[in-house]
This record gives sequence, C-alpha cells and structure tokens, in this order.
Amino acid sequence: MSEALSDAKAKSPKYALNRAMLGELIELLSKEGHQLIGPQREDGTIVLNPITSLEDLPVGLEDEQDSGRYRLKSIAPDDARADSLFQTTVGPQSWRRYLFPPRQTLWKARRNGAGWEIDADAEATPKYAFIGVRSCDLTAIAVQARVYDNGDYTDPGFTARLGAAFIIAVNCTRAADTCFCASMDAGPAAREGYDIALTELAAPGGEVWFVAEVGSRRGADLLEAVGAGPAGAELVAAGEAAVAATARAMTRSIPADAAALLQRNPEHPHWADIAARCLGCANCTMVCPTCFCSTMEDVTSLDGQEAARLRHWDSCFSLDYSYIHGGPVRRDVKSRCRQWMTHKLSSWHEQFGTSGCTGCGRCITWCPVGIDITEEIAAFAKYQTTEIREEA
Ligand code: SF4
Ligand code: SF4
Repeated sequence: MSEALSDAKAKSPKYALNRAMLGELIELLSKEGHQLIGPQREDGTIVLNPITSLEDLPVGLEDEQDSGRYRLKSIAPDDARADSLFQTTVGPQSWRRYLFPPRQTLWKARRNGAGWEIDADAEATPKYAFIGVRSCDLTAIAVQARVYDNGDYTDPGFTARLGAAFIIAVNCTRAADTCFCASMDAGPAAREGYDIALTELAAPGGEVWFVAEVGSRRGADLLEAVGAGPAGAELVAAGEAAVAATARAMTRSIPADAAALLQRNPEHPHWADIAARCLGCANCTMVCPTCFCSTMEDVTSLDGQEAARLRHWDSCFSLDYSYIHGGPVRRDVKSRCRQWMTHKLSSWHEQFGTSGCTGCGRCITWCPVGIDITEEIAAFAKYQTTEIREEA
C-alpha cells in the first residue's frame, strides 16, 4: 500500500457494528432494490448465491484448501469464531459471474414483415449488493474493469452492472493454504473499490463484531442509519492485527520478477513437464476472477422468425479459441499452458499495466491434477539458478 493511501485509510472514520446491525444494513439494501449476493454453502463448497439474510451466509464454517483439494468444516463450538460469518475464504466462483455472466444474450431479433426488429437491450441491468468481497477479488474486479472499460472499448453490460452494485468487502482474518494475495500486492486488506469494508472479530464470549471502513458516502449513510458508532482504538487495533497476521500466515508466493523470468524462458523444457501433467480441462481459467476470454454464438429459431446473439465464457485452454484461418495457433497443451501462465503473470502487464493474477489461489485448488502456479514459477526460477550456477 502506498504511504498516501495508507494515511488516508488511517484517517478515515471507522465504525463498530454488531451482527444485528449488519443484518439491518443488508435489509436496507434489499429494500432499496438491491439483489443481495453472498457466499453460501452448496454442494460441499462455498458459492456466490442470491441471499436474503445473514443466516444464509456460511456461519461457523471454515475451509481447507490445497492443490486439487477443497474441504469445508465446522468451527468447533468452543472456538470464539463459532458464530462468525466470514471464516471461509474464496470458493470456486468469483464475482465475475455476476459482472460478466457466463452466458449472456447480447441482442435478439424478430422478423417483422420483410425486415427485422432488433432488441439490443435484451437483458436488463441488475442492481446487485455484493456481500463479502475479498481484497483479491476487489483487485480482480479492478483488473477486469481495465479490460472492459479501457477508454477505447467499453463493455456496456459490465460497466453498468458494476456501476449499479453496492459492495461490502471483507478483510481476511484467515488465509487458506492456497492464498498468496500478499505477494501479488492484492490483499488481504481491501483498499478501494468498496462502499463498506468489514473486518470480522470474534470476542472471547463468541459475540461477533465488525470494524467498518467507509468507501463511499452511501456506505457512511447506511452505517449511520443502522446506528453504528465510532470503533474504539482497541477494536481497530485488533482488526488490523488480525489482518496483518493473515498476510504473515501465507506460505505461497510469486516472486516479483516472475514476468521477466517467464519472458526469458518461452522455450524452456519445463513447459513440457507442465504439459505432461495438465489435462487441458480449462478449470483454472473458469475459476479465475480475472479471465475474460469469451466467444459468440448466433442462434435462430427453427421457424426462422427469431434470432439472437449469445456470448459465453471461453478459455485459452480450448483448442478452438486460437482458431484462425486454417487451424488453431496453439495446437498442443504445452502452448496453451504457456499462453495461460505467461499472459497472467507477464504479458498482462504490457497489455493492461497490471498483473492478471491476484493470488486468490483458486486455480491451485480447482486443478484436478494439482498444478500449482506458484510451484511452477518456483521451478522456472530454480532451473534458472541451477543453469547459472552450472555456467559459472
Ligand atoms: S491465476 Fe490463479 S491465483 Fe491468479 S487470480 Fe487466477 S485463479 Fe487466482
Ligand atoms: S492447469 Fe489444471 S485446471 Fe488448468 S487446464 Fe491444466 S489440468 Fe486443467
């Protein structure tokens, strides 16, 4: 965090609110017409679903994640966190499924005599309130905003959905073993892009309190509307300590020179090693919060009276994705692995002035064969060191 930003955050007023106040706050958002979206237990994992109250959140649950492994477990009843709402970290879904949905109708057309009537506004803009956005995912939203609204080209759907959304971020007070946002300068504290940012703290008796930071006038109004008062210095210090401890607890990382390392090694034999393990299944790109590959599909009704243009998520791991005249450019899994990793960590910087990876760890957890982007980068770095030593 830059010093100026750090100072601004330190000076901004912090509020204390309890669980009942937070419940009231999201009720107010719902009354204002926001559709509440938050983490929820489903099929043994945490997904981002429409919710109606705090009771829908993963109360008293935490997650265990590792390469190719995800488990939910209940927090022990004698643990002060047993009634906590936000002790699970990120699940397989990210907020991009709401901001840039997996399948969208871009326009529809209906035959009208000899011509066509076009409905270019085929899907209305929903007004979401996102509850519990982690800092890695706030960073991912900002990364995607550079892609979908870059000054030259704008995706009107993404920008409208993001513009209408109210965002309640959550600073992480625990990390999964797969998290490495600290090394990507993307967490675990939320910095910007939120209306309210919460730090969840469990008092020894089990009562849950939140330190709330304000990111917008609307956020401040809502906190005052539910009676949140100024947070005491002790509570603020406890929240900051918990978030700092989360950063220190992360065991995985990506080195700062990863972009240059990959640029220097486009033909390195380690790419073949990764490809020998990779199934080319595209899971890593489907769960990634920053991926944006998509494709178009035109469909017509059987009677020829209606037509529509659909857009759906695609992946650089699809063979067809690099198809240009005569065949795909990236024919083998090795070239597709290299495209994915070098784009995320290297050429994204040139294209968008930022990394394409926020350290959320999803691609590590949800890779069926346990390919770990942090280990692969470490392997390139190790080979390089060995080669340099051998040359010396
Ligand atoms: S590349 Fe992996 S760790 Fe990085 S943002 Fe995407 S899913 Fe998360
Ligand atoms: S790295 Fe893993 S998740 Fe990604 S395509 Fe290969 S096997 Fe699938």
